[in-house]
Amino acid sequence: MELSKTSFLSSLAQLIPMPDCNQSPRNMYQCQMGKQTMGTPCHNWDLQSETKLYRLQTPGTPLFRPVHHDNVSLDDFAMGTNAIVAVISYTGYDMEDAMIINKASEERGMAHGSIYKSEFIELEHASSYFARDPNSKTLNKYLDEDGLPFIGRQMIEGEPLYSYYNSDKSEYVVSKFKGKEVCFLHSVKLCGTLSSKSPNKVACITYRVPRNPSVGDKFASRAGQKGICSQKWPAEDLPFTETGLVPDIVFNPHGFPSRMTIAMMIEIMAGKSAALHGLVHDATPFRFTEEDTAIDYFGRLLEQGGYNYYGTETMYSGIDGREMTAQIFFGIVHYQRLRHMVSDKWQVRSTGPINTLTRQPLKGRKRGGGVRFGEMERDALISHGASFLLQDRMLHCSDETTAFICTSCGTLLGPVTLVTRKADKPHHSEVTETCRLCGHGNKIAEIQIPYIFKFFVTQLASCNINVRIECKDV
Ligand SMILES: [Zn+2]
Repeated sequence: MELSKTSFLSSLAQLIPMPDCNQSPRNMYQCQMGKQTMGTPCHNWDLQSETKLYRLQTPGTPLFRPVHHDNVSLDDFAMGTNAIVAVISYTGYDMEDAMIINKASEERGMAHGSIYKSEFIELEHASSYFARDPNSKTLNKYLDEDGLPFIGRQMIEGEPLYSYYNSDKSEYVVSKFKGKEVCFLHSVKLCGTLSSKSPNKVACITYRVPRNPSVGDKFASRAGQKGICSQKWPAEDLPFTETGLVPDIVFNPHGFPSRMTIAMMIEIMAGKSAALHGLVHDATPFRFTEEDTAIDYFGRLLEQGGYNYYGTETMYSGIDGREMTAQIFFGIVHYQRLRHMVSDKWQVRSTGPINTLTRQPLKGRKRGGGVRFGEMERDALISHGASFLLQDRMLHCSDETTAFICTSCGTLLGPVTLVTRKADKPHHSEVTETCRLCGHGNKIAEIQIPYIFKFFVTQLASCNINVRIECKDV
């Protein structure tokens, strides 16, 4: 190990195919992304009670890999899938790191994965135990006799999740399932010791959330080339080769010149020749030299298999079947599915919860909050002259309030509402507004302002600073 040319690299870096052919930042990016793959974290995932566990359903072993891959037996913990890649700018849905995925490949199982989520349920009272109310006629559809849910059941929000008998109050209590995403009940575990006479009061419920690739999910090759799925393109509309091969992934060629990930280009050729000859190629760095280049080695292998020396192929348009003028670089790349998925990140809000103090929308996806519209976004709208949109975002959709202002002295804090009742008409009250600062009664007007502005004026008043707003009739 000490004499090996690669032992100065970390375990993650040693898994990069031919890192000596990449621009160094790309290798660092791959070291980041290698840790974010959906893969095979363990083999007893079925029995695990991990809060969150990602698993790739259909992994494959890379066809082009460094020796370290076998030294650490990574085949037992596969991290990605082999995808047929066409390096072509095809539809416009592959601009700027976007990536088209073959819909048929996805349907056949490419990069399918799931998340296992576990939660622990602890019964509070000492004498409580899990049980289903035997007199209930509806609960048996959801819960077993032991008060716990059936395995394999699709969970729907609001349905009974478990029930227990509360001995203190002598009643059955049913708890509902909270969770908005489609998921299935994977396992139920009662926790405790068998010897104890008291019933078990802790249960671990594990759900399986199917997470097959969808538009917006993240992928990456092992050369720091990440991409977001922008479309699941029908296979019949994708370009095809002379032999009828259709790519799984369409990769935009503009990703190569600036990033200089030569190792990925070598991988395309190596992967293709490996599949052709039934081999697995060595991708350990520093094995090829200027005289004996990787391109030449894999080019010759491709030639022997009846393919083009440069790894290119003639392709036909998937739209009209015409032959394309350009030769297309076409081969196999080991792609990783990364654990950043839209279904964990999407956020949308029309109206929703607000902060009680400032009356501005709350932040945070979980709470149904808003997406921050900050100073830079404000500047962008100002520079575009989009003043109505700016007002809509920062006033109407935010903390718009009706406030009273004294047009005489210009204060927001002065106006007070007086309710007066006359002795002869006890049920008829008269509402009058006056300014407690200047005493004017007929000069109170209503204005629409952001509530935070009134809050600010109030805070300034506490520092003995008065704010005066000049009013004009419009
Ligand atoms: Zn006034």
